Amino acid sequence: MHEMSLADGVVKLIEDQAAHNDFQRVLVVRLEIGQLAHVDADALAFCFEAVAKGSKAEGARLVIERKPGLVWCFGCSTQVAIKAWGEPCPTCGSFDLKDDGGQDMRVLDLEVE
Ligand SMILES: [Zn+2]
Repeated sequence: MHEMSLADGVVKLIEDQAAHNDFQRVLVVRLEIGQLAHVDADALAFCFEAVAKGSKAEGARLVIERKPGLVWCFGCSTQVAIKAWGEPCPTCGSFDLKDDGGQDMRVLDLEVE
């Protein structure tokens, strides 16, 4: 499952941070996910809980923020934001779009103790 490998990546990152920053526990993980990424927030939270068991991230709350789905429009040669694949460019109506960061996922910050 796609969400499982994402959750795994987040927990690995947290363990890595824990090794460098000496914290005992993570309370909140804030994630930013592009609106065009095929990520189910509920499934991700479920997988995260499972993967985090026994790690510093166990019991941490996952806060997911969606950022605009950024794509590059070849019609007007600029970066625009769409809500879902299949939508045209809001500026010129072109369907000639490619992903330009709208599928990214990254950890914004961690609340630790
Ligand atoms: Zn356009």
